[in-house]
Amino acid sequence: MTNNFIMENLSNYIGGAWVKSKEDNTIEVINPATQEILGKVPYGNGTSVDVEDAVEAASQAFKSWSQVPVMKRVQPLYKLKQLLEENAEEIARTITMESGKTLAESRGEIQRAIENVEVACGTPMLIQSEFSENIATGVDEFMIRQPLGVCACIAPFNFPGMIPFWFLPYAIACGNTFILKPSEKVPLTMVKVFQLIEQLDLPKGVISLVHGGKETVNALLDHPEVKAISFVGSTQIAKYIYSRGAANGKRVQAQGGAKNPVVILPDADIDMSVQIVTDSVFGCAGQRCLAASNIITVGDNGNIKEALYESAKSRTTGFGLDEKVEMGPVISSESKSRVEHLIEKGVHEGAKLLLDGRNATIEGYEKGNFIKPTILEGLPLDGEIIRTEIFGPVMSLIELKTVDDALNFINNGHYGNMACLFTSSGANARKFRNQANAGNVGINIGVAAPMAQFPFSGWKESFFGDLHGQGRHAVEFFTQTKVVIERWPKEWSRKF
Ligand code: NAD
Repeated sequence: MTNNFIMENLSNYIGGAWVKSKEDNTIEVINPATQEILGKVPYGNGTSVDVEDAVEAASQAFKSWSQVPVMKRVQPLYKLKQLLEENAEEIARTITMESGKTLAESRGEIQRAIENVEVACGTPMLIQSEFSENIATGVDEFMIRQPLGVCACIAPFNFPGMIPFWFLPYAIACGNTFILKPSEKVPLTMVKVFQLIEQLDLPKGVISLVHGGKETVNALLDHPEVKAISFVGSTQIAKYIYSRGAANGKRVQAQGGAKNPVVILPDADIDMSVQIVTDSVFGCAGQRCLAASNIITVGDNGNIKEALYESAKSRTTGFGLDEKVEMGPVISSESKSRVEHLIEKGVHEGAKLLLDGRNATIEGYEKGNFIKPTILEGLPLDGEIIRTEIFGPVMSLIELKTVDDALNFINNGHYGNMACLFTSSGANARKFRNQANAGNVGINIGVAAPMAQFPFSGWKESFFGDLHGQGRHAVEFFTQTKVVIERWPKEWSRKF
């Protein structure tokens, strides 16, 4: 059954056709639960020639696409929504095969992608401009939004089906052309999606797919015809992308890593909070940029800790396509070693290992990159692990005395992707949402993922740039404003 997903050497989609990469070297795409090789993706210097070809096709396409009325530009998106819905199950299974997450998580991811297509269908409204009549006698002033040109997206491994859609539908609806570079770890999902894009009534070169790793990225960052870069990935690479892209005069939005705190107050609904918080920590095996990581209790008499422990322990880990599995493997054997090393380091720093998910063996999937739910308690507040993005199924339990202590702890962290509070107190909730230095805040919510009509915010080291992905921010990012001032003196009017 799993063989349906195997793809041989992956091709790029450039100028409306599937074309072989100019790079012969490939790396393997591996199912993290089984170690089965799912495909081979081009990787190496030759991919920069692929970028040249894709940019050339995209630049040509931009000349006419940018002149197509916006109402016509969104029409292919309606068809794309329909195709994504019709093929959602197959795409979801592909996501699970290459990323390891559960099928339910993959289905949710596709739903989020579709919602972005739906919101981008509203671009005719979102792109509307401003007009002031009579700024002086006989003079009007207005601002219009025009597309930028060729835009590119560099995506991470953890949401292969969703993250490109934070940008792609908005970019093309605004009149740009678009090149996507998926993560080389999970390129198959976008190949499936591009098999649908191929069926749209889109001029050649409006959307392209180019595989590869850092050589592809650098070629996009350096190409003068690429006007904007949307990046999502780790903070280290986000900073690099932001600075190299900006140095080359490009518009850049770069979303980075995270270390998300969640505070549970004693007045919270404990059963609900525990369920939601463990889902947040261990969902997608902790490989969400909005995964809760530092779980802070204030005034816990032991009940919350006990309930979190029981909930974590009872989670079923396994192959994401198997029914009843609640958590899959981490993406690679390197990632597994890295997470296990960080757990070890946490213990070395003085934490107690309440639950140890290392050395997990899943029957039938003995070679998989599995780590079961793990809980560290009592990491030193000035240590390294409490501030390090682990990106695996690890909860750090922290007990603090007051809400102010929790806010201090949160605001001293260098990431600012998400902060959440569980409480039944309106006043504490209000204070928290006002004072927490994070771009996405949840009150009694464990994964504060903005819907498509809102920007996917992120602050501090979790985001470099001004305008985020999704919704109105995306439309602003993918357009440049032009202000026009016009004088039409009354004396010039003719009588007919
Ligand atoms: P990554 O930074 O390793 O890779 C992201 C992309 O950058 C990939 O396409 C990769 O090919 C490319 N890349 C990697 N190294 C590069 C280099 N040296 N030079 C140029 N390009 C390079 O990230 P990842 O491991 O794929 O994804 C996980 C990270 O992404 C986590 O840190 C997670 O928090 C973050 N993330 C953030 C958000 C957000 O919205 N803030 C969302 C999802 C994931």
